[in-house]
This record gives sequence, C-alpha cells and structure tokens, in this order.
Amino acid sequence: MLSEDPLHQIIRICLAIDQRADMVYARFAETEEDPGLKRFWQEMSEEEKKHVELWRRLLDMARDQILPQVFDHPESVVAALEVTHDKVNEMAKDCLASRDRSCAFLLAYRMEFYMMRHPAFAMLLHYIQTVTEEKNIEDEYDRHIDAFVEAFGKYGEVTPELELLGETVRYLWQENRMLARQSTTDALTGVLNRRGFFNAMKPLAHLAHREGAPVGVLMVDIDDFKQINDTLGHQKGDEMLRMLGSILRDRTRVSDLVGRYGGEEFIVFLPLIAKDSAYRIAEGIRERVESETKDNTPITVSIGVAEGMLEDNVDQDAFEHIKKADARLYEAKRCGKNIVVMEEA
Ligand code: GH3
Ligand code: MG
Ligand code: MG
Repeated sequence: MLSEDPLHQIIRICLAIDQRADMVYARFAETEEDPGLKRFWQEMSEEEKKHVELWRRLLDMARDQILPQVFDHPESVVAALEVTHDKVNEMAKDCLASRDRSCAFLLAYRMEFYMMRHPAFAMLLHYIQTVTEEKNIEDEYDRHIDAFVEAFGKYGEVTPELELLGETVRYLWQENRMLARQSTTDALTGVLNRRGFFNAMKPLAHLAHREGAPVGVLMVDIDDFKQINDTLGHQKGDEMLRMLGSILRDRTRVSDLVGRYGGEEFIVFLPLIAKDSAYRIAEGIRERVESETKDNTPITVSIGVAEGMLEDNVDQDAFEHIKKADARLYEAKRCGKNIVVMEEA
C-alpha cells in the first residue's frame, strides 16, 4: 500500500485493537459456565463490536477525505498505538490459551489498560461524539469500565493487585476523557474552542453537502462589551460570556456546533437546516439575550447570518459562508447594533 495517511492508520489501529478485544471477550463468554458472568462477557463483546462499527464509520469518513487532522503529531500517535496493538495481540494469544477465570479478568484489565494508556483513543471517542449522532459514547465507556470493576468484584477473587489495576484503568480513562474535552473546549464558556469548532465543522459540512441540505452560519458578537467590562468589571464580563455560551447551546440543537471564535465573538454552524430557518434562529437568540438584561445593564448581541447550499468545493464554500456572516455582522454593528443581518450591505 502507498504511504497511508496517519489519521487513517490511527483509526485502523483502534479498529483492530477493539476487534481483538471483542474476540477475546466473546471467547470468554463461550467458555464461561456461570450464566451471570457469561452474560457479562457477552455484553462486553457487544460493546467492543459497537466500537468497531464506529471506527468503521470514521474510517469511511477519513477515506472520503472529510476528516481534518485531529492530532497535532499524528505520526507519534501511530507509533504509540502500534506498540499498544502489538501488546494487545500478544495478550490475546495468552488469553485464548488460558481457561482460568482470574487470568481472564487480569488479561481483560490489561487490555483495557493498554487501550487507555495513550489519550488518542479517548480523543477519537470524544471526536465521534462531536461529529456523529452518538452523543452518549463517552458515558457508555464510563459504564463499560464500571461494568468490569463491578463484575470482577462479584465473580473474582479481589486481590489488591486486581483492585489497583481496576482503579488505574478507571483513572486513566477519566483523565483522558477530560484531556480530550479540554483540548477542544473553551474553558470559560464550555463551548467549542476554535480548533474544536473547525475540526468538527468539516465532516458536518460535507454531510450537509451530500444530503443536499442548506447550512447556516451565525456570527454573534456582544455589543459594547468593552464598556460593560469597564463599568461592571471583568468578572461580570466573564459571567456574560458564560451566559451567552449557554443561551447559544440552549437555542440550538445538539447536532449544531457552537464555538468561541474570539474574545466576545461566537460562531454557530447549523448543518442540515430547513430552508430559511437560520434567520429565525438568530432572531430567537438576539431576543433571548436582550431579555436577560439585568441591573439596568443592557446586554445585547449583533448577529451576521449566512445560509445556503454548499457547492462542490465544500471546504472553500463553508469558509465563504463564514466570511459572509462576518461581513454581515460588521454591517449589523454599523446599523446600530442589537440586530440580525442577513443581507449584503
Ligand atoms: P462592538 O459593539 O463594536 O462589538 O464593541 P465591543 O466593545 O464589544 O468590541 P471591542 O472589540 O472593542 O471589545 C471587545 C472587548 O472584549 C475587549 C476585551 O477586553 C473583551 N474581552 C475579550 N475577551 C474577554 C474575556 O474573556 N473576558 C472578558 N471579561 N472580556 C473579554
Ligand atoms: Mg463586541
Ligand atoms: Mg468583537
């Protein structure tokens, strides 16, 4: 094969690792006689199968070139995951040779440990959650790990070593999960940061293009925010930013993207919207923000809106929509603020 894109390689290795885990857990299910424990292994194997399906979908997206480079140093991720893959394969061989129950537990923990050792796995799960309708995948993985700890407590001889391994796996997963979130989220407002936003926008834009559905872009900027900061203090200003972030989340669907574009400027990407709905959504946001005015301190936003179909050059076209929305935001400011603009000056 010609040199494969490192992101493909990363996804392919994750897929192979989870396939291997599925195989091992399925084998444990087959040989286990206790019905409760048998069911447990079956469930674990089902969960790995589900992951394999998700990796397949992501791999298809990567092949269609609609994924951005999610990692800063993908080559080093490939190298780390290859080591993990070898390790998991090696252990799988041992697993399949042994029929001992506590050995099965130990090996399952070790496999999960090696999957969690590198944050790439959690990063990709987090990414899947942002760009697909699988909105609970991280919580499901929480339960996956909890299920291990619980089953091992119930059926195994709980040695301090096993207990420590369980805690380590759980800890690694939680840390990686947090890391994945932090690297794509704006710490103050909890919406996507620029990097998280643009990484997620790419596949969603291509999806909208394929479905032949219009997309919308909103550029939302707080009016006279400098003055608000100067009068009320930076802390109140921060509170307002947080409030705007949650209003934007409230007024959009889970499948829409909300990002912090700059200091007090937010960007919203609405994939697959009904025709002519972007303006209405923007107007709803504007009104809602206006209604939040407290302590005689008005808070208002101006919004520039672009809506339309993405043509064949999807990435470029999505960028043009952003440029348009930005120009219209500028126009909204020029027209006196606290308005939504969706036309050229
Ligand atoms: P306009 O109505 O034209 O948008 O005017 P403006 O005052 O809102 O815009 P300007 O760009 O002049 O000022 C933006 C201000 O946002 C300046 C900066 O101090 C403030 N700002 C940027 N990031 C933060 C932040 O994280 N917290 C707080 N409190 N203020 C911030
Ligand atoms: Mg402003
Ligand atoms: Mg601004």
